[in-house]
Amino acid sequence: MTSFPTPGDLGETLIGEEQIAARVAELGEQISLDYAGRNPLVIAVLKGSAIFVADLVRSIELPITLDFLAVSSYGEATKNSGVVKIVKDLDQDVSGRDVLIVEDIVDSGLTLRYLLEYLGGQQPTSLKSCTLLLRDDQEAGGPADAPVDYVGFKIPSSAFVVGYGLDAAQKYRNLRYIAEYRTD
Ligand code: 5GP
Repeated sequence: MTSFPTPGDLGETLIGEEQIAARVAELGEQISLDYAGRNPLVIAVLKGSAIFVADLVRSIELPITLDFLAVSSYGEATKNSGVVKIVKDLDQDVSGRDVLIVEDIVDSGLTLRYLLEYLGGQQPTSLKSCTLLLRDDQEAGGPADAPVDYVGFKIPSSAFVVGYGLDAAQKYRNLRYIAEYRTD
């Protein structure tokens, strides 16, 4: 039987389990303060943010509502064409709600920008975003310019990462930590 994880696939651990737990607790505390007295609608973008949002909402001490949507991007072409498609839409009505979008990683920022526009057109009372990871890219128009309100960790621009919800061809989502994935 193949051992898990497969040796050779995974590179260094970038963010350990305890470090993730501590940061998620901090984010939950900050969100609880910022939304005090309100009932935010937390929208997780499937599948990558499923594990993160499960921990995050349990760190928020407010009566939240949780909903999910799923997007698909058309491969590499997406980055140029700007095409993001919603493949599973929300069950909850966004209008009049304090909406918080939860992403796994903001890379080019395309998905997030698209979702902000899509949900922003549905009359939410407020619209903010939270991402576990933000690619540390200083280029103009890159993720550093993306309108993210809450960031867990910044990661090096070149690293492709897996674990804690993030996959490589659907594998490794259930790792408890975040590791670099070797593509060579
Ligand atoms: P963006 O639209 O910001 O360019 O891309 C965001 C999406 O790309 C993420 O939600 C995620 O699915 C995918 N992605 C970008 N970088 C990585 C990475 O390093 N690892 C994994 N597993 N997915 C990534």
